[in-house]
Amino acid sequence: MQIPLFGDKNTRKPIVLISKTDFIDFQKCRYTWYMRKVQQVKVPPTESMIKGTNMHNVAKDINDSLRKGKLKNFDEVLNFVLSLDLESGVRCGIENFVRYLKGRYEGNLPYVPRIVEERIEYDVKDGYRIVGIPDVVYFDSKTNSFEVVEYKKSVYRDEEEILLEAMFYGYILEKSRRFKVEKVSFVSFDDGYTKSKEYSKAEIEKKIFDMIGFLDEMDFEPNPSEDVCKVCVFRKYCPYAKG
Ligand code: SF4
Repeated sequence: MQIPLFGDKNTRKPIVLISKTDFIDFQKCRYTWYMRKVQQVKVPPTESMIKGTNMHNVAKDINDSLRKGKLKNFDEVLNFVLSLDLESGVRCGIENFVRYLKGRYEGNLPYVPRIVEERIEYDVKDGYRIVGIPDVVYFDSKTNSFEVVEYKKSVYRDEEEILLEAMFYGYILEKSRRFKVEKVSFVSFDDGYTKSKEYSKAEIEKKIFDMIGFLDEMDFEPNPSEDVCKVCVFRKYCPYAKG
């Protein structure tokens, strides 16, 4: 199969860019790579995705202001959110987010981020670059370690899979910036639900290199099943979709 690769046209040697979404989708079905990168299927955003993006943008503003010292304490965060003119669905998500921040603050966990939606990347192997923009990264001076946190509009997917997203970013940070990452987490805007687990370099590294092995072989074997296809963004366009 001839692939019109994927990568930076200005470099002499094409570099295959692997984003978090590419990586996560690939874990469930390798054909998602073919749909996205080869067929270049463009999926229009749903209403839920747009709402999620709006929530992310407000959370980013709050986190940026905390990081830059424009919001100096938790009370100022509350006042800032009250002053915003938000659509009710977005407001509800942001209130859950603020509750999450309050939980961190009261639990004596860092709530002023070290990194907010910054592009990070790492050349994981000749010709392959993993890239992404983590929602937020905290540094805990008590443990001298970092925590990567991903924000989700809702938790409709497997929780381990969502934590794998944060693990992917943790790996880039560990390799490119020598951050000692110990924890990965997510929080849901819909209900404030949050979950964490210990970062495992061995686990994520194996999955990344397994993926690169399949890409080297151009093995994009579909893995259709009702469970996998029902949450796949390509289900309307894919000839193998089930359910
Ligand atoms: S619809 Fe199913 S088979 Fe097709 S790309 Fe998505 S997960 Fe794979």
